[in-house]
Amino acid sequence: MILPLIFATNNTHKVEEVRASLGNAFPLQTMKEAGLEIDIPEPHATLEENAAEKARVIASLTGRNAFAEDSGLEVRCLKGEPGVKSARYAGEHRNDLDNIRLLLDRLHGASDRRAQFRTVMFLILDGKEYCFEGVCPGSILSLPEGNHGFGYDPIFVPDGASASFATMGMLEKNKFSHRRKALDQLITFLKTQNYGQGKN
Ligand code: IMP
Repeated sequence: MILPLIFATNNTHKVEEVRASLGNAFPLQTMKEAGLEIDIPEPHATLEENAAEKARVIASLTGRNAFAEDSGLEVRCLKGEPGVKSARYAGEHRNDLDNIRLLLDRLHGASDRRAQFRTVMFLILDGKEYCFEGVCPGSILSLPEGNHGFGYDPIFVPDGASASFATMGMLEKNKFSHRRKALDQLITFLKTQNYGQGKN
């Protein structure tokens, strides 16, 4: 029987989003479900390095296949900020409201409000490493709207939508989401490896 892939995150919103997109593509376990109650730091300067570190820590602690992701909001007129610092933009305490307030302050009066969410997903499968990326282009509102989701959802409107991520249910958000796009690539790749079909 196939052992589930471990998703190296403690963020319940991310787990819900990934599970909503996954269907029965492959079995997934959270760190908690795999018996790991640890917090893995994200000390690096790029999403790629942080995602790689999280996946490597979990794969080496468990000897299992695992994947991790790191995401960030990249605002064009702020030269890609907050980017890899998205979770702690307003300080180490990880407060979504403070992060939103700071970003809106920095964008006060800005006419260029283009931004993108970017996710890097890093997979370790049978000791080999693979990296996937998903991008969701959009723009930043002047005031928050909606109360679903997490992080910067209340101020981000994806291209092709007329309201913020925080006004959408999970399935609607997943039509646009950066995480969904990266996950789709991961799923396609796992299919090429026959993962979950008796081989692994
Ligand atoms: P990390 O990937 O856990 O380091 O978190 C990245 C941070 O980026 C989160 O804490 C959020 O602030 C932000 N972020 C990442 N993905 C999303 C999203 O889908 N919606 C809103 N904010 C997000």
